[in-house]
Amino acid sequence: MLQLYDSLARDKRLFTPGDPDRVTMYVCGPTVYNHAHIGNFRAAVVFDLLFRLLRHRYGAENVVYARNFTDIDDKIIKASKETGAPIDEITRKYAAIYVAELAAFNCLPPTLAPTATGHIAEMIALAGRLVAQGFAYAADGHVLFSVSSFPDYGKLSGADADERLAGARVEIAPYKENPADFVLWKPSKADEPGWDSPWGRGRPGWHLECSAMIGKILGETIDIHGGGQDLKFPHHENEIAQSSCAHHGAPLARYWLHNGFLKMGADKMSKSLGNVALPRDLLKKHHGETLRFALLSAQYRQPLEWTDELIEQSKKQLDRFYRLLAEASPAEGAAPPESVVLALEDDMNTPEAIAGLHELRDIAMQLEGEPKRRAAARLKAAGALMGFFEAAPDDWFRWTPPSGEDALSAEAIDALLTERAAARKAKDFKTSDRIRDDLAAQGVLIEDGPNGATWRRG
Ligand code: AMP
Ligand code: ZN
Repeated sequence: MLQLYDSLARDKRLFTPGDPDRVTMYVCGPTVYNHAHIGNFRAAVVFDLLFRLLRHRYGAENVVYARNFTDIDDKIIKASKETGAPIDEITRKYAAIYVAELAAFNCLPPTLAPTATGHIAEMIALAGRLVAQGFAYAADGHVLFSVSSFPDYGKLSGADADERLAGARVEIAPYKENPADFVLWKPSKADEPGWDSPWGRGRPGWHLECSAMIGKILGETIDIHGGGQDLKFPHHENEIAQSSCAHHGAPLARYWLHNGFLKMGADKMSKSLGNVALPRDLLKKHHGETLRFALLSAQYRQPLEWTDELIEQSKKQLDRFYRLLAEASPAEGAAPPESVVLALEDDMNTPEAIAGLHELRDIAMQLEGEPKRRAAARLKAAGALMGFFEAAPDDWFRWTPPSGEDALSAEAIDALLTERAAARKAKDFKTSDRIRDDLAAQGVLIEDGPNGATWRRG
């Protein structure tokens, strides 16, 4: 029984998809003009977890997850003007970086990754339909959605109209009938990218992009729509208005999910505050799985403070699990334990799920032989549900940051271990101890076992 907190209903609800053979989820993706920060990655990781849960419950081939790329936008145009690089070069570059970095966080590729520029015709058609039906109007090369035409406007964010206007710093413009009306289409200047439309050469507004792509690739009503909580207003409110009005009142999504903020100290991590940590830099020092574990250490709706200590703790916890997996070489194909599945199906209660993993690990450590292997296999299966334990245990313990040029290579360590084994055999303990101490000084720990010595980075 999957329960999800629906931001629109403001309540936890039992999840029932419209069609269990085609469960649909859409998550608003990045605007690709520079590097994402780790706060942006929280949304991607949280919805990757949900994607995994849905695949577990409904079958991998029955879940369609779409995450878009916003590849036309004022910020991208500005970046192109500043750097002199063509727009598509910028967007392709940062989209590729985003995908590669998320892969390092063990995020599965979404089923579909539509781009805004690939759906301009659908956006023009959607804006045209809204004008024809009286929900939108053209003025001065712009097309604007008339919020007073949609009585449910504001239902998701809940704030009253004045608060919304103040919070969103809505642009007052002479062509607007009401300051709260938002742009569906706007004119492009001669040096800006644009597409021909019934309202002249122009480009889409951001909100229109998601509505048009969802309608095209997933359908009128999808099961789950997700994003960070700052997207509730105006972005998701506007998506709802556009899509329901164009589709005779059909709801855009059955469930609306929003993740809480990643914080630096007391503040939201955000580009405008300049308090961001970038996956690009973090991945030079930490394994992507450690960073993923850190992001999932709090329940997704709670705020999470990003600290060095959080990363360190995450690494230590993963080490404990990998230690068991190294000892027990789990069999494949086990089922994840109920305790972990139930925690995750309770609105993705990841702290409880992680507690369940620890319990399982502690029990497994008491066992020997086949029972231990089976317990480890169940731990591995639970990890797979959360995107953990994807490294081979040896690789996990031997991993070095890509920037650690001065770290000893695995080959060099193997050679020293061979030398140490020879010294021990010759009872030259002075040399063997020196090698052990030298390695320890470089963060490499030797463990002597029945089959000779192994090493890991401590
Ligand atoms: P943006 O690049 O600001 O459009 O954000 C992309 C995604 O990241 C959206 O879903 C935002 O809600 C989300 N996001 C931005 N900052 C944070 C943060 N500090 N914590 C969690 N999610 C965030
Ligand atoms: Zn969106």
